[in-house]
Parts: sequence; C-alpha cells; structure tokens
Amino acid sequence: MPHYRYLIVGASMTGDAAVHGIREVDPAEPIGLIGAEPHPPYNRPPLSKGLWKDQSIEQIWRGTAKLGAELHLGRRVIQLDKSGKLVVDDRGTVYTFDRLLLATGGRPRRLPFDHEGDRILYFRSLDDYQRLRELVGAGRRFAVIGGGFIGSEITAALSMNGNQVVMLFPDEGIGSRVFPAGLAQALNQYYREKSVEVLAGELVSGMTIRGGKTVLATKRGREVEVDGVVAGIGIQPEDHLASAAGLRTEDGIVVDEFLRTSAPEIYAAGDVARFPNPALGERIRVEHEDNANTMGQAAGRNMAGQPTPYHHLPFFYSDLFELGYEAVGDLDSRLTMIEDWKEPHREGVVYYLRDGRVRGVLLWNVWGQVDHARALIAQPGPFSRHDLIGRLPA
Ligand SMILES: Cc1cc2nc3c(=O)[nH]c(=O)nc-3n(C[C@H](O)[C@H](O)[C@H](O)COP(=O)(O)OP(=O)(O)OC[C@H]3O[C@@H](n4cnc5c(N)ncnc54)[C@H](O)[C@@H]3O)c2cc1C
Repeated sequence: MPHYRYLIVGASMTGDAAVHGIREVDPAEPIGLIGAEPHPPYNRPPLSKGLWKDQSIEQIWRGTAKLGAELHLGRRVIQLDKSGKLVVDDRGTVYTFDRLLLATGGRPRRLPFDHEGDRILYFRSLDDYQRLRELVGAGRRFAVIGGGFIGSEITAALSMNGNQVVMLFPDEGIGSRVFPAGLAQALNQYYREKSVEVLAGELVSGMTIRGGKTVLATKRGREVEVDGVVAGIGIQPEDHLASAAGLRTEDGIVVDEFLRTSAPEIYAAGDVARFPNPALGERIRVEHEDNANTMGQAAGRNMAGQPTPYHHLPFFYSDLFELGYEAVGDLDSRLTMIEDWKEPHREGVVYYLRDGRVRGVLLWNVWGQVDHARALIAQPGPFSRHDLIGRLPA
C-alpha cells in the first residue's frame, strides 16, 4: 500500500503546479500523483491553439517527474475515505496520505442525444486532440457545436488547417455570454469572412447517421451534414469524489483562502475549486490556466506547511484567428458594460460593472494592462462612464 506525505489526485496543470509549490518548501518528502489520463501533466491551452500552428507535442509536457513526484497514470481514484486518510483507484490500489490535494478539474458537458457517445468529440484532452487530428483533412467538413471559449478556438484551428467548418450555437453571436452584443455580432462577421459558416441562434436537438456522414438537426428544422462533430459546451467540476466523501461542494469543492476543504489535511485547487476572492467579495470558480498554475502552486505551499493565502484574481486569454485578448475578473454580458474602442471591435477595452464597481475587464487586442485591470477591480468605486473611458490605454 503506497503511502505519501503528499498525495495529489489529478495529474494535470494544477497537480503539476502543486508539485512545484511543495518542492519550494519541502525538497525531500515523497509526493504521489494519480491521474486518469495515460499521459503525464501537460499544458492544455495548446490543444486548441499552438498545436494547430507551429508548436509540437514535445513542447507541451510539464516535466513533473523531474521534481521527484511518483506518477500513477491511467488510474482513476474512485473512493476517498477522509477519516482513514486513504484513496482507492479503479484497479483496487489503496494509497494512504498525510495531506491530499484534489485537482480533478472538470469533465465536458455532453449532449442529450449522443446516445452511443462516440460520434461527438467533446474536446478536452490530448487524446481528444489526437483523435481530431486523425479526422481532419483537406476539404473535410466539421460541425462545431458551441460558440464559447472552446468552440470559437477549435473552429479557428480547424479552419486554419484547411477544413470547412459550420459553427452552431443557440446565442445571437460568438461569445455572447461574455462579450457585448456588438462585439459578438462583429465576431460572427469576422468568422464568416474566414469562410466559417456561422449558424447563430441554432440549437442542435438531434443527430442521425446517413451514408457514413453525421447529420445534425436543429430545433428550427435545419439539417447539417458533416464528416465530424466537435462539441465545446462547457464543463462541470469533477467534484463527486469529494461530495461522496462528505466534503462541502457547491458546483465545485468549497475551499478557504488557504485552499483547505471542509476536511482536515485535504485541499482542492484549480478548475474544481470554489474559492473566496477578496477583490470580487465572493466565492468563485475559475476555469483558466493562470488560476490552475497560481492556485496549484499556493496549494502545494500550504500543504507543505508554508501558509500562502490565495488572493490572486486570475487572468485568462484566447486567440481567435488573428485576434486575441486577455481578461480579468467577471466577464458576464448581463452586467453593465462600458465599451472603449480605439478601433471598433478590433482594439479596445470593455469594463463590466455592477452597482458602479468594476468586476471585470476585457482587453481586446490590448496587451500589458492586466495588472492595471486588476488594480481597478480592487478599487471600490463607484465608477461612471466618464471615469473609465481612456483609463486603460488601448
Ligand atoms: C482545449 C483547451 C484550451 C484551453 N485554453 C485555455 C486558454 O487559452 N487560456 C486559459 O486561461 N485556459 C485555457 N484552458 C483551460 C485550462 O486548460 C484549465 O483551466 C486547466 O487545464 C485546469 O487545470 P486543472 O488541473 O485544474 O484541471 P484539468 O486540466 O481538468 O485536469 C484534471 C485532471 O484530473 C484528472 N482526474 C479527474 N478525476 C480524477 C480521478 N478521480 N482520479 C484521477 N484523475 C482524475 C483528469 O483526467 C484530468 O487529467 C483550456 C482548456 C482546454 C480544454
């Protein structure tokens, strides 16, 4: 029965960052890392960006084993006993621990009509990337379901690699849930100029197979015939291991500022963790790289006995063909939005406000302003349009 001073469930970006955090404080005690995927920790963002351009797979590995962590890969933890301080994997191996980190991330939401489960690629992992790579080819036609973060990036990646893409989503525009309506509409137009067929306002409601092709049906009665289907319709936090063990969960595992769960000596971090954020004044869950890296590292330090409160407001970024952005805080198009464009929908800043306080900032093709945006979110305000226009130079 392996015993570890530090045991980590989930061998991805957060788990790797935690190994670094532990080793900053404790250079010697054993660390075990259990991961359901067959691969050691790797960077996920290149799966929908760099690997479709000039990056190679050799560049995505995070080199976790070099820090002396023992990796148990291709194994899923199926049980956690918090008082016995042990976990059990799907091969029946029992691991005991002094301190445990849950870095189990999220699993893609699935579509209700995909009964067989093998026709739609829910894009999340390196295996998904490799499966998609095998399907693509000149003149191949793909449907991408979802107009959010993953859908818009995968559409751009497929299109840039010579595939025809039809994008379907129920909202009015690409990224409608986070961007102002004008920007979302401009993105529809921009994607169409890149030869993407953008079917906005189309909810996919069924799927059939016809002559080897996949045929998607929409609620409005449209049919779309394609060679392959990719779905990016969001993730759900992988928190059932924690909830089944009696840890507090609320759409994610609830942690305090030191990333401790409701059970002693058990921590959680990354996409799966719901943490208190002082700048926004509430508990949030963030599904982005900067959060995985910074929070994972803080969790590792805390586990190793170096109190490291996590007060960081993570930033995130995306690339859409030649456009790109960075963003901080709460980007929700239901908030009050103040737009400050240097060039409409090509370069500018969008501020997201609630009750006069800035909760989020979108830096559209504007670089080097993330720290200023964070500082603005930390201020109580209230801010008016007049205060914000020109505040962060585009
Ligand atoms: C295609 C893609 C592109 C992205 N691009 C960006 C970007 O441009 N910018 C950005 O900021 N963010 C991006 N992200 C988000 C970023 O990758 C995530 O925030 C990050 O991966 C979260 O890391 P994590 O370790 O917390 O969770 P995950 O990466 O989800 O990893 C969790 C790991 O735990 C494993 N696991 C789960 N349950 C168990 C169990 N019971 N036993 C063992 N193992 C288990 C899973 O198999 C998985 O390997 C992207 C994500 C994807 C999928």
